[in-house]
Amino acid sequence: MDAGRASPGFRAEEAGGLAYYAPGFAGGGGVRAAFSNRRGGWSRGPYSTLNLGLHVGDDPQAVLSNRASFCAALGLNHRDLVACAQVHGTAIAVVGPGDRGRGAFDPGGAVPGVDGLATDVPGVPLATFYGDCVPLFFFDPVRPAVALVHAGWRGTLGRIAARAVSLMREHFGASPERMLVGIGPSIGACCYTVGPEVAGMFAQQFGTAAEVRPHPGDGEGGRLDLALLNRRILEAAGVRSEQIDTAPWCTSCHPEEFFSHRASRGITGRMAAVMALE
Ligand SMILES: [Zn+2]
Repeated sequence: MDAGRASPGFRAEEAGGLAYYAPGFAGGGGVRAAFSNRRGGWSRGPYSTLNLGLHVGDDPQAVLSNRASFCAALGLNHRDLVACAQVHGTAIAVVGPGDRGRGAFDPGGAVPGVDGLATDVPGVPLATFYGDCVPLFFFDPVRPAVALVHAGWRGTLGRIAARAVSLMREHFGASPERMLVGIGPSIGACCYTVGPEVAGMFAQQFGTAAEVRPHPGDGEGGRLDLALLNRRILEAAGVRSEQIDTAPWCTSCHPEEFFSHRASRGITGRMAAVMALE
């Protein structure tokens, strides 16, 4: 784990009978931020049990019950969640009170065409969904504003994390130097092998650093450390290293705690990242 020194780091927590994970800055007041664990819900089969994704073939009633209990544990209302389409792009939308509930009951109603959401309005809970990709939580405590971003390999290659920093500066007057960022649980370099084409694109963009490892037995491909790549992108965008928390858990290594697209070979549930200004 490459966690910052001055940061208390990601921690596992429990509320309302549910386990979840929170970046260190979420304990300081002003903001709620959490990443779900798969245990404690009503879904069955490959979605067992706290599946929060409505778009993966699970029973919608079970998913909505799961969302209700996860949000209640965080002191939020699942009816207010603002979701986005998550198209593996690099666009981020600024949302406000009028967007409350978009995608809360119907994935078709989610904010289209974007992989991240940002707001400076308290009580507008942002939600993004994961089955191995990297959740990024952004918080400016001085001029309170938040952003929540989904970064898979395409989003990482497109530097969506840096786009979130720029967007928060432009729209909310946020400063990268005081920004706090959480990098949530995602697939680790232990499990994330990619083919030669993807490995080549990363090597071209980021060089052959430790974040893009050739690995014996992976043939022409390699292993990507998406969390570390996003940390490097954030640091290059001006976020202080000690203000970035990286969660230490690989989603593919811990099937009892996390849904993993890679580990399940496709059919599985989704965890949610949820974030709201208080
Ligand atoms: Zn792993």
